[in-house]
Amino acid sequence: MIIDFHTHLGHSRDGARQTLSDMLNVMRRFGVAKSVIFPIDEASPGPAYARMNRKIARVIERERSLIGCARLNPNEKKASFEEIDHAVRLGFRAVKLHPRSDRFNAHLAKPLFEAIDQKRLAVVLHTGHEPNCHPSEWHHIFKAYPRTFFVLAHSGKDLFREAIEIAKELKNVYLDTSTLSYYRTGQILREVGAHKVVFASDIPYSHLGLEIKKFEYLLPSSKREPVFSGNARNILRM
Ligand SMILES: [Zn+2]
Repeated sequence: MIIDFHTHLGHSRDGARQTLSDMLNVMRRFGVAKSVIFPIDEASPGPAYARMNRKIARVIERERSLIGCARLNPNEKKASFEEIDHAVRLGFRAVKLHPRSDRFNAHLAKPLFEAIDQKRLAVVLHTGHEPNCHPSEWHHIFKAYPRTFFVLAHSGKDLFREAIEIAKELKNVYLDTSTLSYYRTGQILREVGAHKVVFASDIPYSHLGLEIKKFEYLLPSSKREPVFSGNARNILRM
C-alpha cells in the first residue's frame, strides 16, 4: 500500500495544474491507495486559501482515497486561524505552509502553531535553500511543539544536510524527498533511516512513477513499508 504525502489540486499562477480526475487516474495507474491533497498556489485562493480549502473539503467528502490538508497563509492571520478550525471540522488531517510562494517567515507563522498543535494536525512545510525556507530557520518551532509532526517537503533541497541533522535530532520531524535527486534521497535513507522518511510525489511538479522508482531502486521491497505507508499512517493518526 502506498500513501502519497504531497499532492496539489488546482491551477497554479505558474501554469501548472492538476484536476481531480488527473489525480485519481495517476493514483490508479501507479497503485497509490491514498493521497494527502492541498491547494496549489492559485491566483485568487480566498483569504488564507479559504476558497480552495473548501474545494478540497468537497473532494474528500466524495473520494475516500483522498486525505484533506488545508493550505494556510500566515500573512492573513485571522483567516488562517479560521481555516485551522474549519480543517478540523471538515476532517482534514494536516496543514500546508509554503513560505516562499506565500511570502512569510517562521517568525510571522509562529503564532499559528499553538492552534495547530492543540488540534493535533500534522504540518507539511515547504523547505529549501530559498529565503525563509531553510530547515534551520524553523528548528525552534519544531522543538517548541514536540507532539506535532512536521514533514519537511523536499528535505531542504540544497540544504538537505541541514534537514538530515534536524530529522536525526527531533523525533517529530520527518522528511519528504519529492523532487529530490536519487543521490540525495539515498543519502537521507542511509543517514536518517527509512523510519523518518515519508513517500511524497509533489504531483503535478514531479511524476508519480518517477518518485516511486527512486525507492524501488534504493530499498529492497521488504524495507519499503515505513516509507510507503507506515510512517504516514502514524503521522496522520490513522
Ligand atoms: Zn508541492
